Amino acid sequence: MSKADYYEVLGVSRDASEAELKTAYRKLAMKYHPDRNPGDASAEERFKEASEAYGVLSDADKRAAYDRYGHASTSSGFGSGQGFGGPFADATDIGDIFGDLFGEMFGGGGGRRGGQRVQRGEDLRFDVTIEFEEAVFGKETEVKVRRRESCSGCRGVGTTSGRGPTVCPQCQGRGQVRYQQGFFAVARTCANCGGTGSIITDPCTTCRGETRVVREFQMKVKVPAGVEDGTRIRYSGEGEAGKFGGPRGDLYVVLTVKPHDFFERDGTDLHCVIPISFPQAALGAEIEIPALDGDVTVKIPEGTQSGKEFRIRNKGVPHLNDHGRGDLIVQVLVQTPKKLSRAQRDLVKQLGETMAVENKPHSRGMLSKMKDLFS
Ligand SMILES: [Zn+2]
Ligand SMILES: [Zn+2]
Repeated sequence: MSKADYYEVLGVSRDASEAELKTAYRKLAMKYHPDRNPGDASAEERFKEASEAYGVLSDADKRAAYDRYGHASTSSGFGSGQGFGGPFADATDIGDIFGDLFGEMFGGGGGRRGGQRVQRGEDLRFDVTIEFEEAVFGKETEVKVRRRESCSGCRGVGTTSGRGPTVCPQCQGRGQVRYQQGFFAVARTCANCGGTGSIITDPCTTCRGETRVVREFQMKVKVPAGVEDGTRIRYSGEGEAGKFGGPRGDLYVVLTVKPHDFFERDGTDLHCVIPISFPQAALGAEIEIPALDGDVTVKIPEGTQSGKEFRIRNKGVPHLNDHGRGDLIVQVLVQTPKKLSRAQRDLVKQLGETMAVENKPHSRGMLSKMKDLFS
């Protein structure tokens, strides 16, 4: 299924200002919010679409990326390295807008829900372990995630009696209580209502008034080629449902990449070590290396020293979100045979008689170089 253009979804021109975007989104969100269209799946779809479009276009960086690369830039967000809670944790500024918007729609006691505060759902983290090759070439997989869904028993209201929630007496519906601490007036989330501003005296039997229930759902995860251990993929709006029908949080898929038996990664370069025999090193040879995507032939020139590295272009890891690949770096180690047959021993002896090596110490610089090679 192809995705609609974000600008078309919001009904604005490609050079729409921030204010125009906000106005357009506000209109759509008011019209299609699931609470205003209970049971209307197409309205929910429109609402989701608009939220996603606005989430991207309201962020200058994401908008620029979208303008350049289209949906490919946004279907998931990429980060790598840092643990959870790094630079991506605050990527969700849409929450603030929802704060405004829904505060206006339902808040302040004037809304049809008696002062309830719609809350954005929590972000979810889901860990996925993938094979080394899958990180290099990408993978599509399905995962089962347990997350909170808006309760269908009460349609996210928390009660089915029709009486509805009542204004929290502790905070009078503000969701916060103020108290004096020294010279300062401090506001704190009301413990009685958990900051929602209302309490339910006759809770829904399905969700016990929480307005959400935990469900398992199946999700497609598309791992792009070139990800690294620790990469996080952000699925905007796939986290927990919000309380009282609020928008969903985000889902972060965090990847763990299994190590490979003989390849190691350094960014987009792949490294491996291949043993060669002394005759191969001395006379030169062509060796076949089982690279990740097919065999690669490496030409070993005559007189190759142990520890020498050969770089094979474009046989490494694909660049994440970009063209091209890194290199494969093959280091050869000349093997000294540990066991020789009688015939071999005679041959080596003969060879030895014709080869003279001065067993004089090298300079220190040379020694530490050698150490590096074999460490
Ligand atoms: Zn319920
Ligand atoms: Zn309260």
